[in-house]
Amino acid sequence: MKRTRRFCFLLLLVFAVLILGACDSGMALISRPVSRQVFAMDTVMNLSAYGSKAEAALEKCVNTITQLEEVFSVNIASSDISNINRNAGQAVHVSEDTMEALRTANKVSLMSDGAFDVTIYPLVSLWGFSTDIQQVPEDLEIKRRLPFVDYKKIRLNTKQQTVKIPEGFAIDLGGVAKGYTSQKLADLLELEGVTSAMLSLGGNVQLIGSKPGGDPWHVGVQHPEKANTFLGTLSLSDCAVITSGSYQRNFTENGRLYHHIINPDTGYPAGNGLLSVTIVAKDGAYADALSTACFVLGEQRALELWQERGDFEMILVNISEEVIVTSGLANIFIPDEKSSYTYTFAN
Ligand code: ADP
Ligand code: MG
Repeated sequence: MKRTRRFCFLLLLVFAVLILGACDSGMALISRPVSRQVFAMDTVMNLSAYGSKAEAALEKCVNTITQLEEVFSVNIASSDISNINRNAGQAVHVSEDTMEALRTANKVSLMSDGAFDVTIYPLVSLWGFSTDIQQVPEDLEIKRRLPFVDYKKIRLNTKQQTVKIPEGFAIDLGGVAKGYTSQKLADLLELEGVTSAMLSLGGNVQLIGSKPGGDPWHVGVQHPEKANTFLGTLSLSDCAVITSGSYQRNFTENGRLYHHIINPDTGYPAGNGLLSVTIVAKDGAYADALSTACFVLGEQRALELWQERGDFEMILVNISEEVIVTSGLANIFIPDEKSSYTYTFAN
């Protein structure tokens, strides 16, 4: 009798320890995620995180999104970017975030030989992509603005934390801001003790850790011509998966489609044969800038850059309905069985 009671007591103790353990890390295994939806940076953002720290951490994420939008937006008069643009010709003091985003932008501009260029704003605004009214501009006007696009003319003073652009120039962080933001959110969540979360900023995905339980996350690669259809699925943990595509923001005039990724050499929407580029990399800002850069570069030059760098992987979709998957993703990409596109792997 005594032995049975002692056994029961031990059993209870084991249960108590198990339950207590579950309250912290293990809780994530059985609980549902905490989710938040935010509309910012002209994008619907879905944040979802697991564990006992998720609720409070996501609250902080929402604040961070608002703060970064107030610093980066070309449409907010008091933002760092509006300040730089309004005061072209003078050095303007900016936040550490603006410095960091511009440093990443600069790095990708150099790597891509200017295919990525944040001084693209004179052209982006001419086409109307920063507003609700878009139109095909006069060819002469496009040509007139081309000399005002050149990332090499940006002066970053790290010590003084200032930025200076020449008169007539203007910066637009649209190609890097969302990836920078998702990376900041990932860093924040980790700092807050969240070990499992998935952030989707309008299709730009940032993964924190793995799914509760340790399995990788599944991220669909959007079909460029069919809404809510995927060309395939990637299984990944702890990285950014960021897509740029001509299907994301565009308008049609006289039967022709014009999209929002501008080739800085021509002033026209990039037309190098790609429909979309998905980049997988550790850092969100880097992946975002690269997705835009590789879209402008086109298939061949994007693949050359991938081989040269070795610090990112990608999926290219071209106008011939081919999906090119770089070798680092070969084992973790599952093509959609019903897709009519052809799939090849690049080495
Ligand atoms: P999205 O932000 O829509 O997901 P991207 O990351 O490709 O797509 O960024 C496109 C945005 O970047 C454009 O809306 C514009 O603000 C800006 N942009 C367009 N062309 C370029 C370019 N060649 N280099 C840098 N930024 C660009
Ligand atoms: Mg981008």
